[in-house]
Amino acid sequence: MINYEFLKDEANKLGVSLVDYAADRFDVYAERLVRWNNHVNLTAITEPDDIVIKHFVDCLNICRFVSFNKGDKVIDIGTGAGFPGMPLLIANPEIDMTFVDSIGKKLAFIKDVMRNNGLVGEIIKARAEELGKNGSHREQYDFATARAVAPMNVLCEYCLPFVKVGGRFIAMKGASVKQEVEEAEKAIAVLGGALEKLEEFELPNGDKRGIVIIKKISQTPTKYPRKSKKIDTKPL
Ligand code: SAM
Repeated sequence: MINYEFLKDEANKLGVSLVDYAADRFDVYAERLVRWNNHVNLTAITEPDDIVIKHFVDCLNICRFVSFNKGDKVIDIGTGAGFPGMPLLIANPEIDMTFVDSIGKKLAFIKDVMRNNGLVGEIIKARAEELGKNGSHREQYDFATARAVAPMNVLCEYCLPFVKVGGRFIAMKGASVKQEVEEAEKAIAVLGGALEKLEEFELPNGDKRGIVIIKKISQTPTKYPRKSKKIDTKPL
């Protein structure tokens, strides 16, 4: 379904060399995404080249900034159809990936993609702000990731509680990344983070994107994350 050589070339430009079976796995992922999208609302992007650029290449940009090691614990919050978690898992199958979303049907899709690709990962149906209180998940992860889930200040309250001190939260954002980060300065500090990197870049089609890396420098105070309503009405 997808153009292998195009995906491999674009991945190479990001420093990611995809072996043939990884390219095959991306193909299975794209094929199942389009098929499942007929009955579960997963994505507005269904043309093969668009899937490669706007989903796969977009998410693989994380690998320009972060090298994942075998066994690294990564949690993808609000993963939806698996972005960015699934491209990261396909490119780095030895990481310990956890997919979190509040919608069970989307997680059923992720389970299907993993089964059809021989991949292993954990799937949790939960709201991030509730799971972040759970001691089995709180401050247990080397990396938390999120794309298109919430404004940066709210996203920090969802994601930073999962990251262990010394770990990193990676947020994938659009063209307004700088403003979002400015508005999240207080949230980042209060939740135990420090801005490590903010980079703007373009996808192969010219779309503007931003990536933010926040290092966890101290534990998140136990009062965070707050209840959903409080996060919505009084964002940090
Ligand atoms: N990350 C995917 C992507 O980039 O394509 C999905 C983005 S979609 C716009 C937002 C997803 O976040 C939805 O699947 C939604 O169910 C999930 N979500 C939003 N708020 C959440 C929360 N507080 N806890 C868990 N999942 C949440």
